[in-house]
Amino acid sequence: MSRYLNAQYQALEAYVPGEQPRDQRYIKLNTNESPYPPAPSVCAAITQEDVSLLRLYSDPTGKNLKEKLAGLYGVKPENVFLSNGSDEVLNFAFMAFGGKGAVFPDISYGFYSVFGDLYGIDYTQIPLKEDFSLDYQDYCGQGKMVVIANPNAPTGLSIPVDAVEQIVASNPDNVVVIDEAYVDFGGETALPLIEKYDNLLVTRTFSKSRCMAGGRLGYAFGSAALIADLEKIKYSTNPYNLDRLTLKLGEATVDGEDYYQKMCTRIQETRDWTKEQLESMGFQVLPSQTNFLFARTDRMDGQELYLALKARGILVRHFSNPRIDQFNRITIGTPEQMETFLTVIKEILGL
Ligand SMILES: *Cc1c(COP(=O)(O)O)cnc(C)c1O
Repeated sequence: MSRYLNAQYQALEAYVPGEQPRDQRYIKLNTNESPYPPAPSVCAAITQEDVSLLRLYSDPTGKNLKEKLAGLYGVKPENVFLSNGSDEVLNFAFMAFGGKGAVFPDISYGFYSVFGDLYGIDYTQIPLKEDFSLDYQDYCGQGKMVVIANPNAPTGLSIPVDAVEQIVASNPDNVVVIDEAYVDFGGETALPLIEKYDNLLVTRTFSKSRCMAGGRLGYAFGSAALIADLEKIKYSTNPYNLDRLTLKLGEATVDGEDYYQKMCTRIQETRDWTKEQLESMGFQVLPSQTNFLFARTDRMDGQELYLALKARGILVRHFSNPRIDQFNRITIGTPEQMETFLTVIKEILGL
């Protein structure tokens, strides 16, 4: 740290992303990326012409992509916000709406508390129940911004849309952010509620179900007024937050919807099969509505298992929070990758 850093950032603990090794040595099951490439139409979308057009700024309004997303999801373009990954829209939401404080679960996406700290927000982390399920009543009538990943990470569990509605309806003077990064793998979307509630923001990402984590594309749905607030923050920080190539790839992604539906189904099938296999080896595996599993075994300490897998070329995600340090989060890869994973697990545990 230099002696120039502003005092309020000196104690800030930054978010620590999952490991991103620079070589292809690992079977990478640690950051919930898709094992499948983007749709063929996306892979073919960028031309020489597009590269040469990089001399010009991108469209700061993202008009074409907003229209396409609005068409696909049955909303108006003014209900859509585009961001550089959904991390950016979450960042903007904390900046814009966290003034009266915030609440979110103790076990959830690690970035929420970092944004809370960054903006000096008075936040509370509400403990999930013993079995990691979320009691929606804990979030009703809070009088603060509410942030919930649904389905949640790293647990993989979700709550039904009527529970979300109760939370939104009971906090009319605050924004409720529902982070739907994993909704395409079996969760229930809160999107239809944006017509009825002007305080609901639903965030999404192209990183997981759209096989495009490296493209950094996220978006959000909300009332036109909420979206206008986020646009104000965007135009006050980085008006060209999305580059020309990513915008074009995003449009091609919307055109490839059938392909992505198939990939999501395939991942859900591989997930359910992997869960059964792990359970047959005595693992406790939480029910998952996502593209990952959260699992533990009595036979080996969570961190030890993580390290043993890594030593054998398989990366999963381990969290040191004592409430979950016996678990590992395992991203669903291809069936072949999961077979290798299971074989290696058997080897490690001597089964
Ligand atoms: C992966 C993830 C995100 C962020 O995704 P981006 O790559 O920034 O779009 C947001 N929320 C949750 C819960 C996630 O797991």
